[in-house]
Amino acid sequence: MLLEDYLDRCEKLLEKFLSGKVDTIELIQEIKRGAELLEPEELSANEGLKDYIGKFVSYYLPLASLPNERQHLRVKNGFTMINKLRGKFLLTSFDESTSAIPVKVSSLNFDIKYAKGVGERRAKILKKLGIETVKDLLWWLPRDYEDRRRIVPLSSIVADRKVTIRAKLQNFSVKKVKEYVIISAVVSDGFGQIILKWFNQEYITDRLIKEREYLITGIPKKTPFGPYEMNSPEIEEITGRVPREILPLYSLSAGISQKVMRKIVRKNITNVRLLKEFIPAEVIKERNLLPRHHAMYTVHFPKSLYELKESRRRLAYEELFLFEVAVLYNREKLKTTKGGISKSISGKLAERFIDSLNFVLTGDQMRAFEEIREDMKAPTPMNRLLQGDVGSGKTVVAELAIIDNFEAGYQSAMMVPTTVLATQQHQKLVKDLEPLGIKVELLVGSQKKSQQEEIKKRIAIGEVDVVVGTHALIQENVKFKDLGLVIIDEQHRFGVKQREALMNKGALVDTLVMTATPIPRTLALTAYGDLDISTITEMPPGRAPIRTMLISEKRLPELYAFIRDEVNHGHQAFFIYPLIEESEQMDLKAATDEAERLQKEVFPDIGVELLHGRMSDEEKNRIMHRFKNKEAMILVSTSVVEVGIDIPTATVMVIEHPERFGLAQLHQLRGRVGRSSLKSYCMLVLNSNISGEALDRLRKFAGTQNGFKLAEIDLSLRGPGEFMGTRQHGLPDFLVADIVKDSELLIMARNDAMELLKRDPNLEKHNRIIEEIKERFGENISLIEVG
Ligand code: ADP
Ligand code: MG
Repeated sequence: MLLEDYLDRCEKLLEKFLSGKVDTIELIQEIKRGAELLEPEELSANEGLKDYIGKFVSYYLPLASLPNERQHLRVKNGFTMINKLRGKFLLTSFDESTSAIPVKVSSLNFDIKYAKGVGERRAKILKKLGIETVKDLLWWLPRDYEDRRRIVPLSSIVADRKVTIRAKLQNFSVKKVKEYVIISAVVSDGFGQIILKWFNQEYITDRLIKEREYLITGIPKKTPFGPYEMNSPEIEEITGRVPREILPLYSLSAGISQKVMRKIVRKNITNVRLLKEFIPAEVIKERNLLPRHHAMYTVHFPKSLYELKESRRRLAYEELFLFEVAVLYNREKLKTTKGGISKSISGKLAERFIDSLNFVLTGDQMRAFEEIREDMKAPTPMNRLLQGDVGSGKTVVAELAIIDNFEAGYQSAMMVPTTVLATQQHQKLVKDLEPLGIKVELLVGSQKKSQQEEIKKRIAIGEVDVVVGTHALIQENVKFKDLGLVIIDEQHRFGVKQREALMNKGALVDTLVMTATPIPRTLALTAYGDLDISTITEMPPGRAPIRTMLISEKRLPELYAFIRDEVNHGHQAFFIYPLIEESEQMDLKAATDEAERLQKEVFPDIGVELLHGRMSDEEKNRIMHRFKNKEAMILVSTSVVEVGIDIPTATVMVIEHPERFGLAQLHQLRGRVGRSSLKSYCMLVLNSNISGEALDRLRKFAGTQNGFKLAEIDLSLRGPGEFMGTRQHGLPDFLVADIVKDSELLIMARNDAMELLKRDPNLEKHNRIIEEIKERFGENISLIEVG
């Protein structure tokens, strides 16, 4: 057994002991037995290891005879001991091994052709990969590793788990099938056989010689008959003693082998000495990070998987730290250089409005409002994200902000993604705010030109206090007299540019962006790192939970009967069909045909209406109006129109082809019902050929109604880019960090960045950090210049 496996095992045993799953006797036995299985080779290669292990084992031998309290103390101490052992024996003793080697150059930015072991010919190949300098070479991180410390006999390999084996080549053949060249080889280690296969990699044949012995790394797959098979394994002839080590596997192009690439990296790796540390020493200590050059060295040549994990952690941390410093620095600079208006707000008007509501604000709504008010009173501009689940009541918070802003003497603008929504919000604001003496107007592209001109004029002279609109609002000729507050609803539908265009219409405006797609905290910190965040998690009281059901399309007749019953009670239903851009025509037809079929064949006596994105705004508004007034009881629609519609008596949401939607989007759709105390339902209609994976995802969806939980699941399934939508998520590409998996690290980096900026707001004492930010993120993040 390898030392690191032994330590992992001991750690698990101690945990199990603490949770009562393992008793004292078993614990002692296992710790002892494991120690006996340690390999003599590893024990003798590490000075002092034998003694340490001996001490470790004998610490536990008398455990059974100790009182409970002392047993626990020893077990707790065990974790510290294990970590000490890891630190001592699983890390490269880096400084001794490289400090002796002199480095002749002073910068890593020299041409790769002058690197050791490269030369003109290889330089050309490397440059094709994008490796121009030695620095690029160091940053050419392995895509995977080959663990030659564990060479597994063929008789004990397991399907689908990556292994390294050692075997002799018995035979191989090259076949051409259509445009494919297939190489198959049979290898054996005397106890078993395995088949290797490569597709269109003819150069492999150059390396294959019968009766020679090879190291082979790959993933064994089960086949119906005969031995396991490996596709495109790594293969290397054994020419001497095989050192027990972990080797890097790089992404390569033709003309260079793993062996050569490794040799090049190894020859130049001592240049890591030139990497300068930029993370403050206290942080390194506090977060227990490897030094920079150590991490860069051992990410290529780790002594153990533990060391690999630690070096990746260090490199991921440094990326996140640089990113957070940049984002937070910019946020502060925006505040202090731009300046803002310190609004004077008595709060009387808002109070009147709150008293007039027929419900009580939730604690979260109150808190969000207070945060917004503080921002607006402050002499710096507000940049706040208000996120809250669908139906959590963000609109009323926005209204309160508008009221405060009005009281302070400024105009407000609210931008929403669609005309249907703009119209709906406009109606709501007129109803709620005009009694307070606030003048509300609508501005959308579908209004008559003359009407638009008229409204713009009144905005410009300050006759309009609040304007609600679509991106018609950001047209150049829309001028405000005194814009003080910009609200952007359903923020994920807009890009950063559109947000900025609206903000620039006022000198020092406060900005509130709202989103109903809850964003997991870590993603919010990266994608919206420059915003302060208010979150509404609490739902208004009295909402009956929505029942989500997966039903087979065979049972549609039952569903129709159920909907009929609901309609008889005065309730309404949605039918949603997916609309996917590539097949928009066809999808639209599906929705149109279905609407017709439902009206004619299923609900001839009930009003059915169709609403889709290709309709004119007038038509859309007319249909929404009919649905709201219950002239139609069933609304068939595609996914494009969905967000923000508020119909409290709608109780059934039917979604066809739910597998084609992301979880966040399904959640949005589901949020169209359950907006009152009426019992509501979300029905996902499944056809029989749905994949197991999709089914699993939909089951998860049905299992929770918490938008934040769903967002986390969605994010982990689809990754940040997909999750945020491909349009403009504003996330940088990280080389090492993964904001989903490294979320804890991200929070740490953010806190540390904040501390640093508190001590050195202009980064005057941390020039290196500025340089590193520029190098790492280039154009993607630039630091705001301070005059
Ligand atoms: P969203 O956050 O999805 O934009 P809305 O602002 O449209 O949600 O609110 C959804 C519904 O809940 C509206 O009908 C609104 O009037 C109602 N509502 C908002 N806050 C409360 C509350 N504190 N108590 C009861 N109902 C509320
Ligand atoms: Mg809303």
